[in-house]
Amino acid sequence: MDETIFDKILQQKIPAHIVHDDEDVLAFHDINAQAPTHVLVIPKKKITGFDDLEKLSNEEAGKYIKKVSHIAKNLDKGNKGYRIVFNNGEDGQQTVNYIHAHILLGRQLKWPPG
Ligand code: 5GP
Repeated sequence: MDETIFDKILQQKIPAHIVHDDEDVLAFHDINAQAPTHVLVIPKKKITGFDDLEKLSNEEAGKYIKKVSHIAKNLDKGNKGYRIVFNNGEDGQQTVNYIHAHILLGRQLKWPPG
């Protein structure tokens, strides 16, 4: 698997504004925020995308999703809601081949997305 920008953030080769760091996941602010709060969550065990979720054990995948939920809930202090997005593949506009959940909040989000 090619080294991505998120591998470099995980290895602290490049800086990021970290919001959560534990043995399973790393969460940091997106450099090009699409909402007042835009955080990315990656599992420390790398898979390339949502398509590859089956490469994680049920325990690993479960922990990842639960931690995305936990981090989103903690960011959503005003309880006004948020959106979780996994872009996957070319048509999904995935640009970094390291699975990441986008957590977007802090404004009224539109539906359908573009
Ligand atoms: P994707 O398009 O793959 O779903 O999302 C990749 C995200 O990574 C984009 O929202 C982009 O702004 C973000 N990103 C790209 N490079 C960097 C970086 O160096 N640092 C941070 N914090 N985010 C990045």
